[in-house]
Amino acid sequence: MARPSPLDVYGKLDKSNCGDCGYETCMAFATDLLERKIRLEDCTHLMKDPKQKKNLQKLREMLRPPQRPVRIGVGEKEVTIGGEEVLMRHQLTFYNPTAFFLQVADDQDDLVEIIKYLDNLTIERIGEVLQIQGIALRCVSKDGETFKNAAKKVAENTALPIMLCCLEPEFLMSAAKEIINKKPALYTATKDTWEQLGTFAVQNNLAIVVSTPTGDLDELMSLSATLQKLGSEQIILDPGTFYGPGAISKTYDNIAQLRIAGINNENENAGWPVMGVPAAYWTQAADIKEEEIWKAKFQEIIMGSVMVSQATSLLILNSGQKKEDIWALLALMTLRQSIYSDPRIYPAVDAGIYEIGEPNENSPIFVTSNYRLTKIPVELDIKAANLDAYLLVSDSEGIGIESAVAGGQFSSGSIAETVNETGIFDKINHRILIIPGMAARLSGALEDEADCYVLVGPRDSSGIGDFIKKKWTPEKYMEEYKDR
Ligand code: SF4
Repeated sequence: MARPSPLDVYGKLDKSNCGDCGYETCMAFATDLLERKIRLEDCTHLMKDPKQKKNLQKLREMLRPPQRPVRIGVGEKEVTIGGEEVLMRHQLTFYNPTAFFLQVADDQDDLVEIIKYLDNLTIERIGEVLQIQGIALRCVSKDGETFKNAAKKVAENTALPIMLCCLEPEFLMSAAKEIINKKPALYTATKDTWEQLGTFAVQNNLAIVVSTPTGDLDELMSLSATLQKLGSEQIILDPGTFYGPGAISKTYDNIAQLRIAGINNENENAGWPVMGVPAAYWTQAADIKEEEIWKAKFQEIIMGSVMVSQATSLLILNSGQKKEDIWALLALMTLRQSIYSDPRIYPAVDAGIYEIGEPNENSPIFVTSNYRLTKIPVELDIKAANLDAYLLVSDSEGIGIESAVAGGQFSSGSIAETVNETGIFDKINHRILIIPGMAARLSGALEDEADCYVLVGPRDSSGIGDFIKKKWTPEKYMEEYKDR
């Protein structure tokens, strides 16, 4: 089905421009709705006016992506998985990054301690705060009471979404009832348990995983079809994660086939989020010895990387639940951050003046471009050098220094414009700008256009600390400026 345009969506809206949704016009609402910045439910007219019922239904169908989205959890940390419109990111963009669920065992002594650690775990990378999206509680005890109590403990100690993992349907439903207000996902319905678990999931509007022990995709599609007939609108497909000779390519192929069938061929049974379980390494490798544990972690994270690179919707991981395993999450989160950046948007920040530390009227002013991956490292290097400084970010259309100098987006004119717009020289005692070494050739023109003294800084911002120690003598430069 062709992607609807903002006009198609607008045609089904009320067109009153009432502003109740926070948008001045229905057209602006339609544009952001297509970009998934808002939800249909945000239009009060559509939701409350009975005359709009047909339009609401039509819009739901029009906006439904070939891979349906599934929500797990509640509140601010609710996670949406799947819902993609394209197989490859460059065809449009991906909307919902792979969700990482960390696996914990119900009989783990340090369960609460680990949950609290995971709940607070954040990694900041190039200005983005990276986190895990959920907890997968595994029934290792094979005891219903233990599993149920562990589910309660997890729910009490985190707002993260929870996936309950148990092959015994009675245990699974009993634990789910205990934390039903958290909307946990159920793992897993098989050909033996689909009816009981599927009915329970539909009655409670819970997401449910379907899986087969052998990775048989026909069986998986049949389970998906059956659950849809039962009324389920929240299905997750687990085609199996297999290690060993020939098994890795099968794992890869299964994910690829499901995504192609769901997204490209619009097969309704395959049109659901696809998940993987890199943590399966720990159950498939026989008797992992103490000295081999590092290898198991490494294998698991390699599989995780393969799956993230395939835009798999959700992963269950074992490594990463302890501080010493932070490398595992860092690697996967970094890969995810790259893959899920929007190819239509240059990663840019706002132009202007940024204060770092507590700068005063004698502090240096560093100039950089508004390419996000330039501005943030420069800022971090200034902080690492313990400097109080101003960072003047000039609009280079989101392009890095070297290319923007060559292309003319980072020019003496654009920097002078930012200087004037920010009025920075009115607030401080000097007129010195430190420009990146890569933009040295702009110095003469910039001195004229911004009426300032230009100091050429290091080519790499990691040298800023040393540079300031050796060269920051503002009085001397100001004398030179006055003598010109
Ligand atoms: S609430 Fe609905 S009708 Fe009102 S402006 Fe927003 S989209 Fe238009």
